[in-house]
Amino acid sequence: MRIGILGAGQLGRMLALAGYPLGHTFVFFDEALGEATATIGKTIIGSFSDEGALTNFARECDIITYEFENVPCEAARFLQSKVAVYPPPKALEVSQDRVTEKSYIQSLGIATPRFEPASTERELANACVKLGIPCVAKTRRFGYDGKGQARLSDTNEVGTVWRSLGEQPLIVEGFVPFSRELSIIGVRGIQGDIEIYPLVQNEHRDGILNRSMSPASDVPGALKQEALAIATKLLQSLNYVGALAIELFDVGGHLLVNEIAPRVHNSGHATIDGNITSQFENHIRAISGMPLGAVTPRSRAVMVNLIGSLPSLSALAGLPNSKVHLYGKSPRSGRKLGHVTLLDPSQETESRALSLVSQGIDKE
Ligand code: AMP
Repeated sequence: MRIGILGAGQLGRMLALAGYPLGHTFVFFDEALGEATATIGKTIIGSFSDEGALTNFARECDIITYEFENVPCEAARFLQSKVAVYPPPKALEVSQDRVTEKSYIQSLGIATPRFEPASTERELANACVKLGIPCVAKTRRFGYDGKGQARLSDTNEVGTVWRSLGEQPLIVEGFVPFSRELSIIGVRGIQGDIEIYPLVQNEHRDGILNRSMSPASDVPGALKQEALAIATKLLQSLNYVGALAIELFDVGGHLLVNEIAPRVHNSGHATIDGNITSQFENHIRAISGMPLGAVTPRSRAVMVNLIGSLPSLSALAGLPNSKVHLYGKSPRSGRKLGHVTLLDPSQETESRALSLVSQGIDKE
């Protein structure tokens, strides 16, 4: 099949790399050429609001998917009138606005952090009173990697936070004293078949995912069941096709959904080397109408992101059972340039990898 991908970042690159062995071809659409995909397939460059450019793209595709959740819904719906678009644009609509997202999740009987919308400075102040201090204010739209959010530790901070977040509609959330952050990735096929990867434990640094441990350790049976039920309910209610990532807070053995991403996800990168079928391959299988592959782990895996600049690659690749993945992007502060997955690493190997990565200087 000719598969079109909206977005030309590393997730698109890894989707295509997983899809070529299945005989598919790939074409990307984005507003500029992406370094991560430039050598992987053709890119049609155009604006997401340019119906002519979108039509040219659709002509080259049998199905279309996307690799980032801020694809304008209108573009996805326009394309849908020409060719199948998976996951369904409704998933974009739900996940693009944090208030819509949390309201939708709660409407399914799934717990989220307590929240209040706030569209003015006064509403922000009222939300702080309602939810209590500390609380977390986030822009309703376009936040990622901890950007567009601020913690309020005192009601005096309302004015500063309101201005620092750009005086725009916000969601305010009660501060969740979670014991850890987890995520789960579910995949649903066109026929409604579902596979769900084991829970992963995530650690962030400066708001960006730093390390994912897969599967998460010490997960009681009840928590596993709760996570499976959440993923299944979301996949079914959205009539979803493709991979869906769900970010969770573990609060004393119960789960709150922080957010969903209607796409493959950074916390699932270890599935490339660590599971029978990667999240990327399963997304491609799902949207192209193939049976889903087994999600069973081959081994325990730890994934560490390479952010900003690259460490010594031969040192990293020389670690036992290490798999290095680079995205072809030029170094820049805060940019995800690649990741390394360590299969069943010893404590020593993991520490060595973390130390190499935190040096973050390409010595080659
Ligand atoms: P988000 O952009 O919603 O994924 O948030 C980025 C990170 O901020 C999360 O991974 C958490 O570490 C933290 N965070 C977000 N929301 C809350 C909350 N309501 N309470 C405590 N920490 C939060």
